[in-house]
This record gives sequence, structure tokens and C-alpha cells, in this order.
Amino acid sequence: MVTIREAREALKLYFGYEQFRPMQEKIISDLLQKKDVVVLMPTGGGKSVCYQVPAVVQPGICVVISPLIALMKDQVEALLANGIPAAYINSSQNADQQYQIENQCLEGKLKLLYVSPEKLLSSGFLSFLSRVKVSLFAVDEAHCISSWGHDFRPEYTQLKALKQQFPDIPVVALTATADRLTQKDIQEQLYLQDPEVFVASFDRPNINLMVKPGRDRFNKITEFISNRPKQPGIIYCLSRKGTESMAKKLKQNGFNATFYHAGLSAPLRAKAQEAFLKDDVQIVCATVAFGMGIDKSNVRWVIHYNLPKNIEGYYQEIGRAGRDGAKADALLFYSFADVMNMRNMLQENETDKKQTELQLVKLERMQQFAEAAACRRRILLQYFGETMQKDCGNCDICRNPPTTFDGTQLVQKALSAIARTQERANMGLLVDVLRGARNSQVIQSGFDKIKTYGAGRDVNTLDWHRYLHQMLNSGLVEMAYDQGYTLKLTEQSREVLFDGKQVKLVKFEEVKQAEEAAAAKPRPKRELIKDALFERLRALRKRLADEMGVPPYVVFTDNTLQEMAAERPTNRISMLAISGVGAQKYDRFGDTFITAIIDFINEEQAKGTKMKGATHLATFELLQQGKTIEQISKERSLNPVTIYSHLATLYEQGYHVNVSKYVTKPEYQAIAIAIAKHGTEAKLKDLYEALGEQYEYYKIRLAVSIYKKQNSWA
Ligand code: ADP
Ligand code: ZN
Repeated sequence: MVTIREAREALKLYFGYEQFRPMQEKIISDLLQKKDVVVLMPTGGGKSVCYQVPAVVQPGICVVISPLIALMKDQVEALLANGIPAAYINSSQNADQQYQIENQCLEGKLKLLYVSPEKLLSSGFLSFLSRVKVSLFAVDEAHCISSWGHDFRPEYTQLKALKQQFPDIPVVALTATADRLTQKDIQEQLYLQDPEVFVASFDRPNINLMVKPGRDRFNKITEFISNRPKQPGIIYCLSRKGTESMAKKLKQNGFNATFYHAGLSAPLRAKAQEAFLKDDVQIVCATVAFGMGIDKSNVRWVIHYNLPKNIEGYYQEIGRAGRDGAKADALLFYSFADVMNMRNMLQENETDKKQTELQLVKLERMQQFAEAAACRRRILLQYFGETMQKDCGNCDICRNPPTTFDGTQLVQKALSAIARTQERANMGLLVDVLRGARNSQVIQSGFDKIKTYGAGRDVNTLDWHRYLHQMLNSGLVEMAYDQGYTLKLTEQSREVLFDGKQVKLVKFEEVKQAEEAAAAKPRPKRELIKDALFERLRALRKRLADEMGVPPYVVFTDNTLQEMAAERPTNRISMLAISGVGAQKYDRFGDTFITAIIDFINEEQAKGTKMKGATHLATFELLQQGKTIEQISKERSLNPVTIYSHLATLYEQGYHVNVSKYVTKPEYQAIAIAIAKHGTEAKLKDLYEALGEQYEYYKIRLAVSIYKKQNSWA
């Protein structure tokens, strides 16, 4: 039997990853022991590795059943780029193409075969498989088997045929849907034998959660995108028309955007998807129809222009960001007007009272999330039944914890105004009354005569809205949705008005300012350089991907490029140490990326940027071409002293450099006496002076290297 150690080696060799994620290792070792397994992991959790690694290390072929034909091609490309022989069979191919792939299976040339469920169940295919050595069946998107779920596919219920025909071959069923009914359905309907069920946390810690007030959102969006140049992202809008006008406005402002919704023709939809997938277009403005069936791992941000209908939808949509595990942002715009619109829509379109009620409750949970003053991730995961032990540190609330103040007086003013307007004012009118506005509505209703008229002048309109929302959330007031959204007093209001109960309010304005101040802080130079190199590598990746006709992430993921930009590997060993660089990818792309990194470092150094990196290697290259120090210094526009220091570094690192050309044996011996006295860490200047200013700096520098290596003089 294949051991988990061999599997770990394959992970490094083929995928370039140092270690399995916690659950992957257990899943794979079960599969290697021929056990059936159910895997529930969020998108981006790393499900594919769970069957791809066993496929590679075991004899035979792993058959992957996937309903998403459009994705098969990309999945196979990604495997091929890692040096794993794979193919797919589906209805997009003609009989001849299918026949050829079947032959490759019979000849044992493939490690993975992707098939659609229709193809798997088509006549003769299972008997064909019985002639092939199958190591494992992987049923992807396994929730499609459940009629409870949102993605039910009748073909999936026929997949029990697998266990019936191949009782000894292990089956792994994988899905990103976690609910219990689905899980039970999967086990039963696939006839899995006493399977181990792995439920991973559904947390996506790399996604930064943010909520901003909806006021002025277009400007906030352009500012947000400008801070993320070239980062691919999705803007979810409520309506089809909204997506089109948003894309248009963005384009007018010089952004590279397009739109997508279910009302477009299939070719137009495919075109938008493809352009986004290949990083040809940066921004897609879309309805929620966009996202299913696209597998783009480097979506860096998701914006919700409008409040989603429920938390399930919200979580699924933000989950499309950061599937590669690199940092991603989710920004939600929230305005109370959105909530009211949505409520109206739900109520107008009511067909089933129970359903509408349920949807209203879900909307309310969504609203609470948006208005929350506690860690947002905690609230989200709690909604899905997962309890976090501590705050996440990667949401707006965690980053800028809201401060509270004694809001008793403010609340009293508002409540008293509600009482004196006989609970007949909606929020807008109430704020007008509090602020002493003289508009017709106020005057007609006679509210300018009441005692609290103008009592809240010192608080601006927006802040009043925010405080009233807080009061709503904590039950200090109620809103009569069925009576023109008028505000009503509650039991709790009376406690504040009459029993002197104290109330704390959250200072929202301050939080926002703090966050914007943090965003506006200039990034340190080191970060800017990293960003610049990342951009360079990204452009290179795009070029290579276009040449190969694959999406960029097939070449390297964003995470891998980020690590390259930070580490600046310039030789084989350090390049292979980057996560995501396996042997095959190194052979194929390693040198190209190393060259780009060296070029970048050289350019930066020529500009005077101080950075560690490959600069000495560039010198080495020129030395090997037989150039003199003077020539090299000219060519690289660097001081000769710098070039000598490169020689010293090279020599210390064991490169073949003939230092005796530059410092003779007697010279070295003389200098070595001073080094012995002052130490190798002494300043060159001190050594220079100790030696009576007799030896040039570069000779002293080289002598130190020789001394350090304690090489006998040759
Ligand atoms: P899923 O199918 O669950 O959505 P993927 O299999 O696409 O997730 O994996 C998500 C990302 O995480 C991919 O970029 C993948 O290469 C990466 N990944 C998977 N396993 C590991 C690992 N052990 N170490 C580092 N990265 C990993
Ligand atoms: Zn948090």
C-alpha cells in the first residue's frame, strides 16, 4: 500500500506544496486504505487535492464525476501544467475524440479522467470502465444528489451504480454544501460503506469582511477599485439593468468593466465569463446569476452594491473571492432604503404567506449582520451553526472596534419625539422633527408645534438615522412595516423614558474615519516594491497563459506570485521552495520567472533602491562572459566598489570566483592580521585605518570574505 509519506512527497513534487492542510491528510490516508469518504469543505478549502494526490500515487486511474462540463477543461489543464496526465470525456467531444481518450485509459496512460454523470451512465461506459484499472471514484459537487438541495440533478441519483458494479473501489464524495440532510442523502444514495465524514470549518479567514453605509456608493466603489488596480473583482447588483448601468459608468470613469446577467444570450454570457477568467476584463458587474460554474481562483474582491436577500446568498457570493487562499476583500453596502425596497418587493410578490414570512426573517438576519457592532465573522459562522472561540481580526469591526458612549439623552429625545408625534412619524419625518426642519410635511402634520421639535439639532441627519437603527436593533423602538414604516414605542422605550434606564450607543462616524485613515496611510517602500514586482510577474503570467490558451491561475496562483514577489527567488533551490512551484512547473516556467525577478532587482538597484537579491548573480553572469570589473561596473551603472562586494558575496556563497586576481597572497596575509584583531564584523573603515590606509577598500572587503571562509590560500 502507498504510504502517506509518499503522498506528501507527491504533493511537493507535483503541486509544490510543503504540507497537507489538516483534513486533507486524514482524508487521503483513509482513501489510500480503500475506505469510502464524504468531504464537506468550503469552496477554496482544497478538495481537489484530496483525490488528485491519491490518483497520482496509486496504480490505475481516478475517475472524477463532475456535472460542470464547462470547468473540466480548466481542471485538466491545471493538472497537465503540474505534470499529471489527465483528460476529460463529455458531450462536447465527437466520437473519435472520445474513443482516443478511452484508449489512453486502457493503455494506462492517464491518472485522472473527468466525466459527466450523463456520460458515466450512458450505455456501455460502465462496462468499459470494468476493463480499466480504476483506483478511485471521486464524486464532485455531491450535493447534486439531494432533492433537498438547490442544485438537484436527477442523473446523480443513478450514481449508486458505482458501488453496485465496483464494490471494492473506494468512493470519495465532495461538496461545499454542509447541511445535514444533504450529507445523509449523499451517504445513502451512493451506497457508501460506513464512510468517514469530514466536515471542515466553513470559515474563509482570508476574506476581509467590510460593511459601509450606502451613501455615495459609486464614489466609494471607484475609490475602492482605484486602490486595487488590476485586481479582478465582482460587483453584485440587484437588477439586470443595474449591472449594465454600473458597467457603463465604470467604463466612463476609465475602468475595465463588463456586465453579466441571465437575460444575456449564451454567447454573450460566455464571452463575459471568458474575458474575466483570462484577466482580460478586471470587473464584472453581475446579478447573482454570475459565479456558479466559474472556477476563477484569483477573484480578489466582491462588492455587494445592494444588500443581499439573505446570509446564505451573501456567503456564497463572497466565497467566490480568494479561492486561492490569498488575501481578498468583501465589501457590502448597506442602506436602510435597500431593506425597505426589498421588503416591499417581497410583500408585493407574495404568493405563499409562509414563504414570504420566512424570507422576511432571513432579510432581517442579513440586516442585523450589516448593522452589527461585533465581529462579523462570528455572526456569519454562528448563523451556519459554527461557534468561533475568538474574534477574527479580519473584519472592519475587529480592526476598528466601535467605541460606545452614554446615549441615554439622545435616545430619550428620540423616544419623546415618537411619543409626541403619536407614533405617526416614519424615520425620515422623525429626524426632520428632531432636527427642526421646516418642510411641508413637518408643518402640515403640525409637528413643528411639539415640544421636542428641534431638540436634536446638534446631531446631523445621517447620524440620527444610524442611532435610530441601533435603537431598532436593540429593541428600543419598533417599526410598523404595515403602517407606512412608522416608529412605535416598546416596553424597553418606556424603561428609558420613565425608569431612567441608561443606554449605550455606538459611535459610527469615528469608526469610519479610523478605517479611512488606516487605508490612506502610505504603504512602506518595501511593500510598494513587492507590489511592483507582483505586477511584473502577473503580466508575465498573463502572457504565458495566453500563449498556452489557459486561465492565468493555471500557470501560478496569486498566492504563489505573492510569495515570489516577497522572497525574490533567483535560483533553482529558492524557487522550488516557493509554495505552488512543483517540479513540472519549475521546468516549464522556473527560468522565465527567475529571469524576470533578476531583471527587476537590477532595475531597482540601478534606480538606487537598496535591496537584497540577485544583484550579485547578475554580476556573476557578466564575469562568466569574461568581462572585467570596469566593464561590468559601466554596463550595470554601479560603482566598482559595489561590484567588488558582489564578488565577495559570490565567493562567500561558494560561487567559483578567482579572488586571487584582485588581492594577492601577501596582501591577504597582511590584511588578515588586522581582521584577526578587529573581527570580521568590523567596519571596513576601521580596518582601513588600522592598516595605515595602505590597502584599498575593495581588497579589504575581499580579504574579509576569504578570512570568513577560512579557506587555506590557494
Ligand atoms: P476547492 O475545490 O475546495 O474549492 P481547491 O482544491 O481548488 O479548493 O483548492 C483551493 C486552493 O488551495 C488552490 O489554489 C489549491 O491549489 C490550494 N491548495 C490546496 N491544498 C493545498 C495545500 N495543502 N497547501 C497549499 N495550498 C493548497
Ligand atoms: Zn472580526
